[in-house]
Amino acid sequence: MVAMAISEELFERACRVIPGGVNSPVRAFRRLERAPFFVKKAEGCYLTDEDDRQYIDYVGTWGPAILGHAPKPVLEAVQAAIPNGLGYGIPTRVEVTMAETVCRWVPSIEKVRMTNSGTEATMSAIRLARGYTGRKYVVKFAGCYHGHVDSLLVAAGSGALTHGEPDSAGVPAEFASLTLSLPYNNREALEEAFARYRGQIAAVIVEPYPGNAGFYLPRPGYLEFLREITAREGALLIFDEVMTGFRISPAGVQGKLGITPDLTTLGKIIGGGLPVGAFGGRREIMDCVSPLGPVYQAGTLSGNPVAMAAGLAQLRALEEGDAYGRLEYLGARLEEGVRAALRDVALPLTFKRSGSMFCLFFTQEDVVDLDSAMTGDFGMFRRYFLSMLEQGVYVAPSPYETGFISTAHSEADIDATVAAMRVALRAAARG
Ligand SMILES: *Cc1c(COP(=O)(O)O)cnc(C)c1O
Repeated sequence: MVAMAISEELFERACRVIPGGVNSPVRAFRRLERAPFFVKKAEGCYLTDEDDRQYIDYVGTWGPAILGHAPKPVLEAVQAAIPNGLGYGIPTRVEVTMAETVCRWVPSIEKVRMTNSGTEATMSAIRLARGYTGRKYVVKFAGCYHGHVDSLLVAAGSGALTHGEPDSAGVPAEFASLTLSLPYNNREALEEAFARYRGQIAAVIVEPYPGNAGFYLPRPGYLEFLREITAREGALLIFDEVMTGFRISPAGVQGKLGITPDLTTLGKIIGGGLPVGAFGGRREIMDCVSPLGPVYQAGTLSGNPVAMAAGLAQLRALEEGDAYGRLEYLGARLEEGVRAALRDVALPLTFKRSGSMFCLFFTQEDVVDLDSAMTGDFGMFRRYFLSMLEQGVYVAPSPYETGFISTAHSEADIDATVAAMRVALRAAARG
């Protein structure tokens, strides 16, 4: 087994003073029954842990690190911003540039407001949708994660139209009862919900390419259907592109498919590694936000100048190079390698990819929603994950996460990853 003396010691200390030893639960490796590694530094696609082990990283800070870690243009922008002060709570030029950049990149966004996290962005977008429409119900899809907002922490009910049960203690059932959780990729379920709650549904919020229960894709026409039915029923369509924004294309999934949502939430990449989120959309809707309108939304650190500088530098770097071509090329190379490895090891597992996002499911079923994503074999995943880690490749420590490739990965990194996968898949299959 891998020597991890220092990480283990740090984890012991952490567990005494931080719940579970971590500041976000998935970092804890709990179901893997081992301590997480602690990172000392990161550069490009490599992480170095406290025990001086190096890993090729496919978690990428859970999405933001699209240029890899510590990219030069972002570090330089942050260094240039710092001497002017770390934040003032007064408008700054860089916020205007950021808003103009977001509106230019994502045409459905005519006005945008910055937040400090994706969670704040979705929470605010939901409040805005309710304020704008004067309706109270929100539809979400099982397996889609929209941050830890009380009313969005709702999993699948067994019947498509049963009121949601809260996923978390501390969320009163009354809150959750205003959230209708439906299966993704299922048109009938949504049609029934609109029939049953006619005139009461404020918004449908969706991860257009769901990336928080593994990674899977909409059936052809499904997202277009969401656009049509919400428009017809007077509900807002919210694309939660916190993960896919600036990742699947410069304008996210909506840019790739040519669909115009009413509101969009952003996060992750937009902060260049610092804490930033954003929500935006049609001017007429955004003008309901305080101080123009009655929907209150605020943030002491929102639009922080250092964070804005980091995010803008990351977006500019993406714009300058052929980043999206490169990410697709690397993604295709990985996919080809994975499919060949699966054939050679005679493991017909399900692999999903779009551009630089991917997921290997430890099931033979096609994955189109939460239920099919949950058919994976956890024991197999665990053996695969531990073998990858031992070989110096860090994939997410959960089978329900997306893998991310960055522009800092080289062909050699991808090929080394595929070679490690062949070993790990054999280990997984042995049982
Ligand atoms: C990560 C994520 C969020 C939450 O963002 P935080 O910055 O972690 O609060 C919301 N929606 C989606 C789709 C995400 O992937």
